[in-house]
Amino acid sequence: MSKLSIRSLDLKDKRLFLRVDFNVPLSEDGSEILDDTRIRETLPTLEFALRRHAKLILASHLGRPKGKPVAKYSLRPVVDRLRALLDRALGQSVNVAFSPDCVGEVAREMSQQLESGQILLLENLRFHPEEEANDPGFSRELAGLCEIYANDAFGSAHRAHASTEGITHFVPAAAAGLLMEKELTFLGKALQSPEKPFVAILGGAKVSDKIGVIDNLLRKVDALLIGGGMAYTFLKAKGQEIGGSLLEADKLDVARAALSSAEQRGVRFLLPVDHVVADRFARDAKTRLISGTEPVPPGWMGLDIGPATVELFTREIAGARTIVWNGPMGVFEMPAFANGTMRIAAAVAENQAALSVVGGGDSVSAIRQSGVAAHIKHISTGGGASLEFLEGKALPGVAALTEAGDGASAA
Ligand code: AMP
Repeated sequence: MSKLSIRSLDLKDKRLFLRVDFNVPLSEDGSEILDDTRIRETLPTLEFALRRHAKLILASHLGRPKGKPVAKYSLRPVVDRLRALLDRALGQSVNVAFSPDCVGEVAREMSQQLESGQILLLENLRFHPEEEANDPGFSRELAGLCEIYANDAFGSAHRAHASTEGITHFVPAAAAGLLMEKELTFLGKALQSPEKPFVAILGGAKVSDKIGVIDNLLRKVDALLIGGGMAYTFLKAKGQEIGGSLLEADKLDVARAALSSAEQRGVRFLLPVDHVVADRFARDAKTRLISGTEPVPPGWMGLDIGPATVELFTREIAGARTIVWNGPMGVFEMPAFANGTMRIAAAVAENQAALSVVGGGDSVSAIRQSGVAAHIKHISTGGGASLEFLEGKALPGVAALTEAGDGASAA
């Protein structure tokens, strides 16, 4: 990774502003945290900073309050959970205070009073419209709270907001936290210096969401395996009857262009060769298995890859040294159409010789559902951010970080 890491900074007794992603799912009234994965993902960075006696100021967004305070999007419920998780991780109690505003007099005073080894959690950044507008005055105010800045919110790095981009112009150096560093190391290695064979697996609903990813990956991979709803636009482009399967008719040209680009580059472009089709989009629909040469009957739709496709894809996956996976192979939320995705998850987990990287919200929940998550080398925490990374786009929150070598003296 070419970016300055929090590891190279002297944190002792310094006020460290750490942008985190505590955008956790909450109960309807906002009082209860339903899943604390995102908080747990930042624990290594928090522990690292606390053990080095930093004064830690944490800032995050939560939900979409649209630029004004909304009680159900308050970060206050995070305080107790954070305290409990840190107590367990560190084996000692940590003082976690809460500032009811992320800027202004209260935030300033509370951050000044922070002692080494203590935490101040700021209220939701998006209670101010200036956060998403990347307002320079607001960025300067946030920067005024700290002496050092680090960003651990990979999931927000594809947005140029005040706390991810603007603030970096007003601090001596902007470092990557440990989670950010891990994301950039794994995703960067997969895309920039992949060990070959490099196999990418793409799925999910829409071609239109992934066309940028397909274009970029076609330049790098040895094989591209496509499943899920998006496969049907490609199959249709190749002249296959797809019945009522998902089709983006306005993307047929794009699909044809991708197929011919793959051919020119010598990339193996594998589409499903059999399908689990259903007479309705429903859990209890009637289902049939259809081989690739048979047309999908009118009114029926392909909702999962069949066993021959699983076998075909598994062979490619087993021989890979680098694997990138984004998007499920079928409607995995319904048990009748989950098998393909679960089998592909198992195949990716099985190949321990490969660097395997899984990104995107749905593929991550599929991997967790499959029970093999622990065997995947890297599960990305950023849905949109990991997609943009795979598209080869520069993420503003990453671009804004100080280059390694430039920052140690500045900080
Ligand atoms: P995405 O967000 O683009 O990764 O798409 C994920 C969604 O695609 C999931 O909710 C899946 O249920 C859905 N999906 C996957 N395969 C199919 C399919 N064959 N037909 C319709 N939807 C699908």
